[in-house]
Amino acid sequence: MTARPTLLASGFLLVLAGCGDPAPTPPAGGPVPESTSTPAAPAAAVEPAANGGTEPSTDTACAVEIEGNDLMQFNRDAIAVPATCERFTITLRHTGQMPVATMGHNVVITRESDMPAVAADGVGAGLDAGYLKPGDDRILAHSDLVGGGAITSVTFPSAKLKEGGPYVFFCSFPGHAPMMNGRIALE
Ligand code: ZN
Repeated sequence: MTARPTLLASGFLLVLAGCGDPAPTPPAGGPVPESTSTPAAPAAAVEPAANGGTEPSTDTACAVEIEGNDLMQFNRDAIAVPATCERFTITLRHTGQMPVATMGHNVVITRESDMPAVAADGVGAGLDAGYLKPGDDRILAHSDLVGGGAITSVTFPSAKLKEGGPYVFFCSFPGHAPMMNGRIALE
């Protein structure tokens, strides 16, 4: 095998040298290569590093994503808000398929002690109000109410969680709060 490249190279040179010779004959003797394609050159081993880990960390630490599904569940039961974050964003992804009128989800933040009453008043407010009583100042922050496949988010000043807790996040859709809630606190 090691001799073949040399033979091919010399044959190539012969062809070049033989001006006017229309039919270059392969070198006699040795096995005639079926294909004249040159052996595939080894791929240059210069694969750039996919991620150098130097991606600028935009405020990812001041945001969190939470999922709600068609089984009336959030995928987390606690949210820690770094005290260094001036503002904090919660993105809610409804991973289910049911419509908002049947299985709507939102994220509402209140004092833990206010959650039952805020949820109850939200039921009375109705779907069009996102199941939240308009002007309810017990609500520190809330997202829109979304159905399956939708995403929404809410951003609020972290200072709202500074005093007067404990605080919770929950879904105010009728009947969801008891299952869909968790603690949220500055850490
Ligand atoms: Zn819900």
